[in-house]
Amino acid sequence: MLDNVNIVLSHTSHPGNIGATARAMKTMGIANLILVHPKKFPSAEATVRAAHADDVLEHAVVVDTLDEGLKECSLVVGTSARSRYLDAPLLTARELAEKLVGEYRDEKVALLFGTESAGLTNEEVSRCHYHVYIPANPEYSSLNLASAVQLISYELRVASLGNIAEQTRKFKVKDDAKTKPVTAEQMEGYYQHLEETLIQTEYLDLKHPKMLMSRLRRLYNRARPDHSEMQILRGILSAIQKGFKNPKAF
Ligand code: SAH
Repeated sequence: MLDNVNIVLSHTSHPGNIGATARAMKTMGIANLILVHPKKFPSAEATVRAAHADDVLEHAVVVDTLDEGLKECSLVVGTSARSRYLDAPLLTARELAEKLVGEYRDEKVALLFGTESAGLTNEEVSRCHYHVYIPANPEYSSLNLASAVQLISYELRVASLGNIAEQTRKFKVKDDAKTKPVTAEQMEGYYQHLEETLIQTEYLDLKHPKMLMSRLRRLYNRARPDHSEMQILRGILSAIQKGFKNPKAF
């Protein structure tokens, strides 16, 4: 999903912000930067602020107009500190990230950032399918441009990692029934077996049980054993009991 994301900076005034944006992007695994008519670029200041993300600057696409900047994207998302743009649905950065890993996973997306002084123009606003905002302090909600890129990119990254983890989990469950936690009935069978064995070994004295079984239940509830672990646990108990029947084996 992150490969489909294009960070589009419109008419940026300060080259330092372009460099800091490149760094923000690279740390979150986003590589595509489009600069629409930057005031000054390339620039030594941008390169210094990019630090080890200077490759993002080298590959940045510089264009003159918004049309050129957006031409390959099917979804355009404007970013703004203000919620004045009521003509398109307004999302928080987190909500946007969920949509991008979900319904818009295969689309090329432009995330459009406005100028430092005035934000997005009306024309830019009119091109957006969604508007996204970082729910900052309402008394001062205007973040530095590169900071806004950093936070939105972070949400996209977290959502894309969550998606991978979820897919892997689903795959595992489907693929391997052994990793499913055992049922309550199987747990009860195990507790009976365990209690019986603990009495045989005299570790559990029924006259002074000291809440042993309920403490062990708490421990196993935290662990939620799966089927293959339950086989091991049962196997250990059976081996102990076998030893009792045949003490010479010890
Ligand atoms: N003075 C401008 C703010 C410019 S900040 C204004 O009032 O609109 C530069 C850019 O950073 C904004 O155009 C927007 O793209 C982004 N930005 C800053 N704060 C943001 C926030 N809280 N949520 C989303 N984007 C934000």
